[in-house]
Order: sequence, then C-alpha cells, then structure tokens
Amino acid sequence: MKIDFNKTNGLVPVIIQDNRTLQVLMLGYMNEEAFEKTKKEGIVTFFSRSKNRLWTKGEESGNFLSVKNITIDCDNDTILIKAIPKNVVCHTGSFSCFGEKDSKGFLYELEEKISQRIDNKVNISYTYSLYQKGINKVAQKVGEEAVELVIEAKDNNDELFKNEAADLLYHFLILLKAKGFSLEDVEKALETRNK
Ligand code: AMP
Ligand code: ZN
Ligand code: ZN
Ligand code: ZN
Repeated sequence: MKIDFNKTNGLVPVIIQDNRTLQVLMLGYMNEEAFEKTKKEGIVTFFSRSKNRLWTKGEESGNFLSVKNITIDCDNDTILIKAIPKNVVCHTGSFSCFGEKDSKGFLYELEEKISQRIDNKVNISYTYSLYQKGINKVAQKVGEEAVELVIEAKDNNDELFKNEAADLLYHFLILLKAKGFSLEDVEKALETRNK
C-alpha cells in the first residue's frame, strides 16, 4: 500500500473505526511520519493540525488506539484504521467523537460483553457460570428458552413473549461463544443461502 501524501499537501485524513463493532470513532490526519510511526508501534499517532506536531492519541489521557487493520481507499488518499480503543475516544468523555450510540448494533455489543465475561472468567457473572457448566448445559438452556418462547407464542401476552425471545437470543449468543463461533459466522452462513 502506497499512500499519495503529496496529493493532499502532506496530510491524509484517517478514519478510525472500532474493530469490534465497526462504529466510526473519530477522524484525524496523518503525514508520512505519523503513518510510519503508527505502523511501527501499532498505536495510532496522528499529525495534529492544531498542535502542529505528531500527536499520539492517548498521550495525555492514556486512551490509546491499538491498530488492528489498516486499509487505503481506492485512490490512495484516505486511510481507514480499525482499532481497539482504550476507554473512550473523544476528549469530551463520549465514546466516539460522533456521539455515544452508533454501532453495528446492540446484539454485537452484547456479544462482546458476553465474550468478555467469559474470557475474563468473571465468577460472579451468570454468563460465565453457565458457560463453565459446559456445552451440553448451555445447549440445554437454549432448548428450554426456545420451548418457553413457543409456549408464549401460543398465549396472548406480548410482554412475556418479548422477554422469552430476549432470553433465547441471549442464551443463543452464549452457545455460539461456547462453540467458538460468532454472530458474524452465522450471518455469513445465512448470506451464502441467498446466493
Ligand atoms: P489524548 O491524546 O487522548 O491524551 O488527549 C490529548 C488532547 O488531545 C486532549 O486534551 C484534546 O485536546 C485532544 N483530543 C483527544 N482526543 C481527541 C479526539 N478524539 N478528537 C479531537 N481531539 C482530541
Ligand atoms: Zn480517495
Ligand atoms: Zn472528539
Ligand atoms: Zn425464558
């Protein structure tokens, strides 16, 4: 990948996206030096137009951006970086510079939360304690919730139906995690059927 820094007076816009949810987090600029530093360190460094110097995002706040993937646009004058942000991104305290809520969707956030509970072995969490009981137990729970949903589908209580649907989705996500799959894998499987 070769970026044309000359085309735009040495500075190229950089879009920062959350690697997990694809939420757009912020936009900054890089000169060639900032770009090389970013690639070398795996931490995003911009060229700040207001500070007029290299600016490692997080240098004061500690809220660094860890680089996961870098792509260049079709005509080599814009950079897209997928990153994992530490804490919040915006200096106003909001998660993204474009506001709090604007992600790929709540389900993906929930999937991430479930994943963290399990990976960090959070003992007090229901998610982790169920996961620990093994695949069969998790799968059985999904079956139970599915049956409860079927029962509520026959009744006329909308609240109960919605709650059982939520229970099913939540346990379904734990089962996916326990099997080592992600929502995205399921999406892909569905997509290939449409072809
Ligand atoms: P930081 O790089 O997070 O340590 O923040 C240092 C300074 O950079 C802050 O005091 C802000 O002036 C500025 N800053 C931090 N984050 C952002 C951001 N997402 N967009 C614009 N300016 C920022
Ligand atoms: Zn372009
Ligand atoms: Zn901001
Ligand atoms: Zn239930």
